[in-house]
Amino acid sequence: MRALVVIDYTIDFVATDGKLTCGAPGQAIEGRIADLMEEFKDDYLVIANDIHEENDPYHPETALFPPHNIRGTHGRDLFGRVAQYARYAHHAIDKTRYSAFAGTDLDLRLRERGVREVHLVGVCTDICVLHTAVDAYNLGYSIVVHADAVASFNPTGHDWALSHFKETLGAKVVEG
Ligand code: ZN
Repeated sequence: MRALVVIDYTIDFVATDGKLTCGAPGQAIEGRIADLMEEFKDDYLVIANDIHEENDPYHPETALFPPHNIRGTHGRDLFGRVAQYARYAHHAIDKTRYSAFAGTDLDLRLRERGVREVHLVGVCTDICVLHTAVDAYNLGYSIVVHADAVASFNPTGHDWALSHFKETLGAKVVEG
Protein backbone atom coordinates (compact mmCIF):
# COMPACT_ATOMS: atom_id res chain seq x y z
CA MET A 1 0.00 0.00 0.00
CA ARG A 2 1.12 3.55 -0.61
CA ALA A 3 0.40 6.83 1.16
CA LEU A 4 0.44 10.48 0.17
CA VAL A 5 1.44 12.98 2.86
CA VAL A 6 0.46 16.59 2.14
CA ILE A 7 2.75 18.81 4.21
CA ASP A 8 1.98 22.34 5.44
CA TYR A 9 -0.10 23.51 2.50
CA THR A 10 -1.75 26.16 4.67
CA ILE A 11 -2.64 29.83 4.27
CA ASP A 12 0.33 30.91 6.40
CA PHE A 13 2.81 28.98 4.25
CA VAL A 14 1.26 29.59 0.81
CA ALA A 15 -1.02 32.65 0.57
CA THR A 16 0.49 35.96 -0.52
CA ASP A 17 -0.31 37.45 2.90
CA GLY A 18 0.64 34.29 4.82
CA LYS A 19 2.78 34.74 7.93
CA LEU A 20 5.69 32.62 6.64
CA THR A 21 4.86 32.25 2.99
CA CYS A 22 6.56 30.52 0.09
CA GLY A 23 4.62 32.92 -2.14
CA ALA A 24 4.32 32.32 -5.88
CA PRO A 25 6.29 29.03 -6.02
CA GLY A 26 4.00 27.64 -3.32
CA GLN A 27 0.85 28.83 -5.09
CA ALA A 28 2.02 27.32 -8.40
CA ILE A 29 1.78 23.73 -7.07
CA GLU A 30 -1.84 24.00 -5.84
CA GLY A 31 -3.39 22.16 -8.79
CA ARG A 32 -0.82 19.36 -8.85
CA ILE A 33 -1.25 18.67 -5.12
CA ALA A 34 -5.04 18.62 -5.52
CA ASP A 35 -4.78 16.18 -8.46
CA LEU A 36 -2.54 13.87 -6.43
CA MET A 37 -4.96 13.99 -3.49
CA GLU A 38 -7.72 12.79 -5.79
CA GLU A 39 -5.41 10.11 -7.20
CA PHE A 40 -4.65 8.82 -3.67
CA LYS A 41 -8.22 8.83 -2.35
CA ASP A 42 -8.32 5.02 -2.45
CA ASP A 43 -4.81 4.66 -1.03
CA TYR A 44 -3.94 6.40 2.25
CA LEU A 45 -4.09 10.17 2.26
CA VAL A 46 -2.66 12.11 5.19
CA ILE A 47 -2.64 15.85 5.75
CA ALA A 48 0.08 17.04 8.13
CA ASN A 49 -0.01 20.66 9.28
CA ASP A 50 2.20 22.63 11.60
CA ILE A 51 0.61 23.83 14.83
CA HIS A 52 2.08 26.33 17.28
CA GLU A 53 1.09 28.21 20.40
CA GLU A 54 1.70 31.96 20.26
CA ASN A 55 5.00 33.01 21.90
CA ASP A 56 5.66 29.49 23.15
CA PRO A 57 8.85 29.96 25.21
CA TYR A 58 9.70 26.26 24.98
CA HIS A 59 9.51 25.92 21.20
CA PRO A 60 12.75 26.29 19.22
CA GLU A 61 10.96 27.90 16.23
CA THR A 62 9.86 30.85 18.39
CA ALA A 63 13.40 32.23 18.11
CA LEU A 64 13.79 31.30 14.44
CA PHE A 65 10.62 32.39 12.62
CA PRO A 66 7.77 34.87 12.91
CA PRO A 67 4.63 33.40 14.53
CA HIS A 68 2.86 31.08 12.05
CA ASN A 69 0.21 28.35 12.01
CA ILE A 70 -0.98 29.43 15.45
CA ARG A 71 -3.66 27.15 16.89
CA GLY A 72 -7.19 28.29 16.08
CA THR A 73 -6.18 30.87 13.43
CA HIS A 74 -7.18 31.16 9.76
CA GLY A 75 -3.48 30.75 8.88
CA ARG A 76 -3.76 27.02 9.66
CA ASP A 77 -6.54 26.47 7.10
CA LEU A 78 -5.56 24.66 3.92
CA PHE A 79 -4.95 26.80 0.82
CA GLY A 80 -7.09 26.88 -2.33
CA ARG A 81 -8.23 23.66 -4.02
CA VAL A 82 -6.27 21.62 -1.50
CA ALA A 83 -8.81 22.75 1.12
CA GLN A 84 -11.66 21.35 -1.01
CA TYR A 85 -9.85 18.06 -1.62
CA ALA A 86 -9.23 17.58 2.10
CA ARG A 87 -12.50 15.64 2.06
CA TYR A 88 -10.50 12.75 0.55
CA ALA A 89 -8.09 12.63 3.50
CA HIS A 90 -8.11 9.57 5.75
CA HIS A 91 -6.16 11.23 8.53
CA ALA A 92 -5.09 14.71 9.62
CA ILE A 93 -2.05 15.33 11.77
CA ASP A 94 -1.18 18.36 13.86
CA LYS A 95 2.62 18.40 13.97
CA THR A 96 4.75 20.65 16.17
CA ARG A 97 8.08 20.03 14.46
CA TYR A 98 9.29 20.11 10.85
CA SER A 99 8.87 16.38 10.32
CA ALA A 100 5.39 14.86 10.05
CA PHE A 101 6.79 11.87 11.99
CA ALA A 102 8.12 13.87 14.99
CA GLY A 103 5.85 13.34 18.01
CA THR A 104 2.93 12.07 15.88
CA ASP A 105 1.26 8.70 15.21
CA LEU A 106 2.15 8.74 11.49
CA ASP A 107 4.59 5.80 11.60
CA LEU A 108 2.11 3.65 13.57
CA ARG A 109 -0.71 4.41 11.16
CA LEU A 110 1.41 3.63 8.10
CA ARG A 111 2.63 0.35 9.62
CA GLU A 112 -0.92 -0.70 10.62
CA ARG A 113 -1.94 -0.38 6.99
CA GLY A 114 1.12 -2.03 5.54
CA VAL A 115 2.22 1.14 3.79
CA ARG A 116 5.77 0.79 2.45
CA GLU A 117 5.87 3.66 -0.04
CA VAL A 118 5.44 7.23 1.16
CA HIS A 119 4.78 10.01 -1.36
CA LEU A 120 5.56 13.55 -0.23
CA VAL A 121 4.14 16.87 -1.45
CA GLY A 122 3.79 20.37 0.00
CA VAL A 123 6.07 23.03 1.45
CA CYS A 124 8.80 23.85 2.10
CA THR A 125 10.92 21.45 0.05
CA ASP A 126 14.05 22.15 2.10
CA ILE A 127 12.46 22.33 5.56
CA CYS A 128 9.36 20.30 6.47
CA VAL A 129 9.35 18.08 3.37
CA LEU A 130 13.08 17.44 3.84
CA HIS A 131 12.81 16.56 7.54
CA THR A 132 9.83 14.28 6.87
CA ALA A 133 11.82 12.54 4.13
CA VAL A 134 14.82 12.05 6.43
CA ASP A 135 12.59 10.41 9.07
CA ALA A 136 10.91 8.23 6.42
CA TYR A 137 14.38 7.14 5.28
CA ASN A 138 15.47 6.29 8.83
CA LEU A 139 12.25 4.31 9.38
CA GLY A 140 12.86 2.26 6.24
CA TYR A 141 10.14 3.56 3.92
CA SER A 142 10.47 3.86 0.16
CA ILE A 143 10.16 7.55 -0.65
CA VAL A 144 8.67 9.29 -3.68
CA VAL A 145 8.93 13.09 -3.87
CA HIS A 146 6.79 14.86 -6.48
CA ALA A 147 9.07 17.61 -7.81
CA ASP A 148 6.10 19.46 -9.36
CA ALA A 149 4.21 19.42 -6.04
CA VAL A 150 6.84 20.72 -3.61
CA ALA A 151 8.06 24.31 -3.30
CA SER A 152 10.15 26.66 -1.21
CA PHE A 153 10.72 30.40 -0.76
CA ASN A 154 14.39 29.53 -1.25
CA PRO A 155 15.18 28.35 -4.82
CA THR A 156 18.71 27.24 -3.89
CA GLY A 157 17.41 25.23 -0.94
CA HIS A 158 14.67 23.74 -3.14
CA ASP A 159 17.16 22.52 -5.76
CA TRP A 160 19.57 21.24 -3.12
CA ALA A 161 16.79 19.30 -1.35
CA LEU A 162 15.63 17.67 -4.60
CA SER A 163 19.12 16.34 -5.24
CA HIS A 164 19.49 15.28 -1.59
CA PHE A 165 16.25 13.25 -1.80
CA LYS A 166 17.60 11.41 -4.81
CA GLU A 167 21.33 11.10 -4.12
CA THR A 168 21.33 10.64 -0.33
CA LEU A 169 17.90 9.34 0.69
CA GLY A 170 17.44 7.09 -2.36
CA ALA A 171 14.07 8.69 -3.12
CA LYS A 172 12.38 8.64 -6.48
CA VAL A 173 11.94 12.25 -7.59
CA VAL A 174 9.12 12.31 -10.12
CA GLU A 175 7.05 14.79 -12.13
CA GLY A 176 3.58 14.76 -13.63
ZN1 ZN B 1 6.45 25.85 12.36
